[in-house]
Amino acid sequence: MKTLYIASHNKHKVEEIRQIFSEDALLASRFQIKSLDDLNFHGQIPETAATLEGNALQKATFIHEKFGVDCFSDDTGLEVTALHNRPGIYSARYANMPADFEATGHVDEASLNRPDPAFHENVDRLLRYLSREGCEDGSARKARFRSVICLMLGNEVHYFSGEVAGVILPERQGTEGFGYDPVFRPDGYEKSFAELPLAEKDRISHRGRAMAKMMEFLRETA
Ligand code: IMP
Repeated sequence: MKTLYIASHNKHKVEEIRQIFSEDALLASRFQIKSLDDLNFHGQIPETAATLEGNALQKATFIHEKFGVDCFSDDTGLEVTALHNRPGIYSARYANMPADFEATGHVDEASLNRPDPAFHENVDRLLRYLSREGCEDGSARKARFRSVICLMLGNEVHYFSGEVAGVILPERQGTEGFGYDPVFRPDGYEKSFAELPLAEKDRISHRGRAMAKMMEFLRETA
């Protein structure tokens, strides 16, 4: 049995990833998935790159080098059409960004150095911006989640990506999930991610799709 660590402190992400993995009996018999709690590591993981790929690599490299373990990380961004595909890599810190961030992408040192805002503040800022800009019609509210997974297996590095398209709802719907889930409705559905059962979200989500690619790779090679 091999062990793979998830290089994330985000409990919701870890839960989703464990759930996705557990549904594959073959892989579940070959790999045990562990979290950073199992390493008793609660410190910060640097995340200062300019792309999802760069951040995913940075997070996985940090854990791989610090503990000498095989691991993978996920970096996710929400890209909203009316915000010129922002907040993207700044999704976790969106509420900290300068006032002209949506229009210009302007980011300053002070915003980057502040502690991450509470999550509801990010969602509030997004809803406020879209309603202020009069984005009532669907096309300006178009958005997608994009995830990149970086897998460090021995000395090898592999990337897997997944995305899901949808719209940003005018207000929160549902209580499941985390982050932007209550305001994201995937295309083809009448419900937000926060109203869907976790197994359904996992089947169609950015992370679920990236995980499916990584799991196919692991099935064939490991
Ligand atoms: P990171 O990948 O942990 O840096 O996540 C970026 C931001 O996007 C965080 O604030 C998350 O809460 C949010 N996020 C990541 N994955 C999801 C998701 O599946 N649904 C909703 N929000 C998410």
